[in-house]
Amino acid sequence: MNIELPTKNLRANSFLIKDGILFIRNRWSLKQVMSSLTYQMKGRRECYYCHKKFFPSEMTLDHLYPQQIGGPTVTNNLVPCCNECNGRKGNLTREEYFVFSHLCSTDEKLKYSIELNKKRKELQKKGLYELPAEWLQETPTNRIKFHTIKISEEEYSRKQEKFLEYGHLPKPIVIDRKLNLVDGFHWLIIARNYDFRTVPAIKLDNVELVGAKKLEDLIAKG
Ligand SMILES: [Zn+2]
Repeated sequence: MNIELPTKNLRANSFLIKDGILFIRNRWSLKQVMSSLTYQMKGRRECYYCHKKFFPSEMTLDHLYPQQIGGPTVTNNLVPCCNECNGRKGNLTREEYFVFSHLCSTDEKLKYSIELNKKRKELQKKGLYELPAEWLQETPTNRIKFHTIKISEEEYSRKQEKFLEYGHLPKPIVIDRKLNLVDGFHWLIIARNYDFRTVPAIKLDNVELVGAKKLEDLIAKG
């Protein structure tokens, strides 16, 4: 998928936007870059949900498709949102939150949340992702490149347990246009260790991770 980017070329210490491609310095925080670009494009004063005005420092970012179901931290999945709305929305998608916020009683809200969690778990077990189908593509596991990062034993075991319960990855991994790993390191390692030939991936077609030297060269070329 192509993520939303400012139309003008733009440069910062950690990234460069040139001719519609976002180059990010390797190992730089993706969240930081995406947050900064989201605020630039969508503003930092008005909450997406309640439309109230806030000071920029009071704004948070919400994932339209929550991270729990694999919603990526990219500009088109992020919106500026006040603390209160963000807390209320929790792990709901935008559509689910819309239904939820129109329910009147606490009982109805509780019932809706329980049913939703049940449905979500069933979908996850079936290997179905609650994300737009056009975002996902099965990608050969051995073609995905990544820098060696130290594995956290604790995180690995926690994810492995979930993986073994479901028999597949509960959320897709994220890669750039050259198949460099952007997010989902532990999931990828698990898939490799269990000889999975392909993994579900969200490929960011207008994003590329580059080394510090290449970024400098790109900036120098103008
Ligand atoms: Zn709000």
